[in-house]
Amino acid sequence: MSTATDVRPVPFLIGGEWIKDTSSHITHVNPATGEVNYQVCAGTESDIDAAVKSAHEAARKPAWRNMLPHVRAQILNKIADLMLERSDLLARSQMLENGKVWKECKNQVINGAATFRYCAAAIETLGSEITPPRGNYLAMTVYEPWGVVAAITPWNSPITLTCNKIAAALAAGNGIVLKPASYTPTSGIELGRIALDAGVPPGVFNVVPGAGSKIGDALVSHPLVRMVSFTGGTEVGRRISEMAGRKIIPAVLELGGKSPHIIFADADLNAAADAATVAIFEGTGQSCTAGSRLFVERKVYDQVISMIMERARALRVDLPDAPGAQLGPSASFSQRDFIEKMVDGARKEGAEILIGGLRPTDPRLAKGAFYMPTIVAGITNKSNIAQQEIFGPVLCAMPFDNEDDLMQQANDISYGLASGIWTADYKRAWRVARALDAGMVWINTYKQFSTASPFGGFKDSGLGREKGLQGIRTYQQVKTMFWSMSDTFDGGFSIAK
Ligand code: NAP
Repeated sequence: MSTATDVRPVPFLIGGEWIKDTSSHITHVNPATGEVNYQVCAGTESDIDAAVKSAHEAARKPAWRNMLPHVRAQILNKIADLMLERSDLLARSQMLENGKVWKECKNQVINGAATFRYCAAAIETLGSEITPPRGNYLAMTVYEPWGVVAAITPWNSPITLTCNKIAAALAAGNGIVLKPASYTPTSGIELGRIALDAGVPPGVFNVVPGAGSKIGDALVSHPLVRMVSFTGGTEVGRRISEMAGRKIIPAVLELGGKSPHIIFADADLNAAADAATVAIFEGTGQSCTAGSRLFVERKVYDQVISMIMERARALRVDLPDAPGAQLGPSASFSQRDFIEKMVDGARKEGAEILIGGLRPTDPRLAKGAFYMPTIVAGITNKSNIAQQEIFGPVLCAMPFDNEDDLMQQANDISYGLASGIWTADYKRAWRVARALDAGMVWINTYKQFSTASPFGGFKDSGLGREKGLQGIRTYQQVKTMFWSMSDTFDGGFSIAK
């Protein structure tokens, strides 16, 4: 990968070849320092066409399509090995591009490698099924790749989110064209290199960076693309879903969130306050599952808010590679400006900014896209700041009186990605967990993730699931087979079954 001192733009990958000579480039700026990191070659619509054709050809070849599951598993495990060997390079590319702190970037590589290992184990053991017959035949269900999958990823956690898609799509035997976010193009490119080095046939996995507004439509609408896997904002997801609908192809959509994090008075308040702090501020709030709407039972509201304020004040906002840094900058200056605009708007509407609501005063951070951990109170769930996804270190704190009041507020939002409940009463936890409109519920914990558990949202937070065995089936289509066991023909509607 090029570095700041290397003037050659980073090439991208089509058909196993590195594409270097492009007419346009993405100039990549480090959000922690404002300095240019490097330039990355940007693809055009004709590059997308070439990448899709290459994925189509490679995915049709028996060498990939009919590869035995245990051999495919060996390749996926090799990808995991190489990711760990090159973990510093991968983590550094993400840290330079989106400003996440070093430890989180390294952990994303480790978890991404684990995702490849999980998919390897799963594909080696997932079988076809024999289903109950209603006649003299054997009925089977088999699973086949879709063909070419368009994978489109956002900038907040490119390593994790790319691995979720690529590991499962490769395990299922597809060809892939990855379009990474323009703010974070190079970790996807490096994963392309690793896949090639691990033995994925050239052309199976292609990576084409470029502005989504310029090349996104060409990718999604390409006739040879048979499935779209998108992680990003709800509005782009809606557009992609409409295009996929017209083509009658599946679109897996992992979209935005504004997740309720609920603390009842009977909870372990220390643990709940620890979790509430991590749930919103980790990753500088740039997490789709961030616990950004905090609901605290009124009788302990003041106490819990002071506990979270104390914890938030102790967080270390620093350059992402500074030892002990807990919050880096926002991934871009425009994202920081948006956060600032949202908080200023709430302030004008009468919200109380309990802490934060400003940029850091430390001169070492002055050139970066930093914003301090912020807690906003004195608002209702209907206010703009409580309803819109901010994707920054901004916690909206609101009290509730009882379970009915809580449920009214918690579900009164277009999103439905994640949620958290803190209570000592397991019956109440069950009731509330079942009633929440959310694809994920954490009970007396928050932000536990497993590559073995399905991940996805309700309502405007998305459609379909990634991760877990369901996440591999997502990248396969179903074929039913009937094998006659009769010597004469005994099918058709004239025979009652
Ligand atoms: P975004 O603006 O929707 O962009 C996501 C990706 O879509 C980028 O690669 C972008 O390319 C591309 N894109 C933009 N316009 C497109 C078009 N017309 N056709 C095809 N692709 C297009 O989202 P973001 O700002 O990068 O990411 C933040 C959002 O992602 C938040 O809403 C967050 O909640 C969501 N997210 C969801 C999950 C989840 O699993 N549910 C996980 C992480 C993030 P460019 O970068 O070139 O614009």
